[in-house]
Amino acid sequence: MSSHRRETADFHISQSGEHAWLLHAESHELFQIKTKSGNSDGRESPSQDALMDVVHEDILRLKDTGYLSRLNRDRLEIASPLDGANLALNINLTSVCNLGCTYCFAEGGDYGRIKGKLNADTDLDSILGFVSENTVAGDAVRFEFFGGEPMMNFDAIEALCERSARMAEQVGIRFLYRISTNLTTRLSERELSLFERFGFTVSVSIDGGAATHDRNRPNLAGRGSFQSILQNCHRVRARSEAITLVARMTYVPLPESSLLGDVRELHAENIFDWFQILPAVVDDSFLKPVFGDTFAGKSRAEIDALCDDKVEAEYKKLSDAYLSLFRPDNRFKGVLEIETIIRMILLGEVANGHCSGGRKYFTFSPDKSVMPCHRLVGEPALQSGTFKAGVDAATTTEWRSSINQTPVCSDCAIRYLCSGGCKQENLVRSGNLNRPDPRSCRFQFRLVDSAIETIGRAGPDLLGRDRSVLNDLFVSCGRPTLNTDRAAKRPPRPELRSLVPLT
Ligand code: SF4
Ligand code: SF4
Repeated sequence: MSSHRRETADFHISQSGEHAWLLHAESHELFQIKTKSGNSDGRESPSQDALMDVVHEDILRLKDTGYLSRLNRDRLEIASPLDGANLALNINLTSVCNLGCTYCFAEGGDYGRIKGKLNADTDLDSILGFVSENTVAGDAVRFEFFGGEPMMNFDAIEALCERSARMAEQVGIRFLYRISTNLTTRLSERELSLFERFGFTVSVSIDGGAATHDRNRPNLAGRGSFQSILQNCHRVRARSEAITLVARMTYVPLPESSLLGDVRELHAENIFDWFQILPAVVDDSFLKPVFGDTFAGKSRAEIDALCDDKVEAEYKKLSDAYLSLFRPDNRFKGVLEIETIIRMILLGEVANGHCSGGRKYFTFSPDKSVMPCHRLVGEPALQSGTFKAGVDAATTTEWRSSINQTPVCSDCAIRYLCSGGCKQENLVRSGNLNRPDPRSCRFQFRLVDSAIETIGRAGPDLLGRDRSVLNDLFVSCGRPTLNTDRAAKRPPRPELRSLVPLT
């Protein structure tokens, strides 16, 4: 072939060892590429161009017969920006936090700007009023209890749970409750029974084993918080199977760190249902607290390059070992971001936005602001509304743009999985909500590669798992997903020479 320009926008090739896979951007059909050359016998892995040459004829056949069509694009063309996710309200309960995590974007809990806490009566009136105006019978609504450390305003959590349960009965909607907590505060019968009665997802900020966690997340006196968190995690786990426990890990790519080692340490406790693992996003002013003297003398660009390489390498190791974490004697159900992408590929789903921010997800804070993203609290220029007035639709336009109309992503082969990246990270890194930074894109590609590698290696049990519960777990800030009805729409598959279908 003289040029693969069209194919590189339409297809993503994933390679691992001697294996290679081909993902079609427009339908999320996935194939294994039959190739004998690989590095298992000491030879170099084939180049992407060489692999495209191998599959070229099969691709033409698949396109000519209509087996590969533009399902994802077409589905988004008829979608509303509000389709594909439940209403989710992030309730920023208090500015106060009892830890001093090195990388905390909330700057010790108060975002450097906000003070105070939500009150348990009039503020909750506003929040429930917003729910009432934005739902119909049969809807599900998710509360995300957030902070600061939300457990430090437990009265408001309790009151909102009780009041929403009464509302659910009256108007026929369903509430889901999730808390992002460091789980180091008081955990008595009162807290545990609330988690149980309301079937909480408890997302615990825990970064790995004691050494890693205590380094990243000291308390305000500078002492480690690992032992008290772990003890409380065990108590939550022992309390009830109605509670879902998520290990929310922030990965700091220090040269000596091992992400897989930290995952294995937490996995060995056999108490966490899911893991959620994201790399730390570190502002210039946080470089010293997060990395100490590790990168002394290096420029910001050099530090970023070293960190990105380390993140890539550590996620690859995790990906290679991923299937070994699923064991009959361990309750591990997966890494949320990887499992969501696996589901989208296997079921033929398209992302209707990278997240629900500014669409169906809003953050309510003690300053009575309504924001499109929890990380932007305290940025008046990006405010969506107020408790009193609700959301001003004019402020949400940039949050609701379709990936079909996002020029910078239009040549990206994973655009219907990623859908434009985290807008807050885009803003910080490129100055524009809808202009992604190559560093963020690299991580999105890594997640997709991890999902593809897992599908390529897994047996039928893992592939056949019901992943519908992921919709209730607020993965990737509530990424909205739409089904394209792929299985019903595709014609019979033509005979293929170099591709083995996996979807
Ligand atoms: S943000 Fe980056 S990885 Fe995501 S769709 Fe856009 S170009 Fe692709
Ligand atoms: S994905 Fe990014 S922009 Fe979207 S809500 Fe989350 S932090 Fe905010």
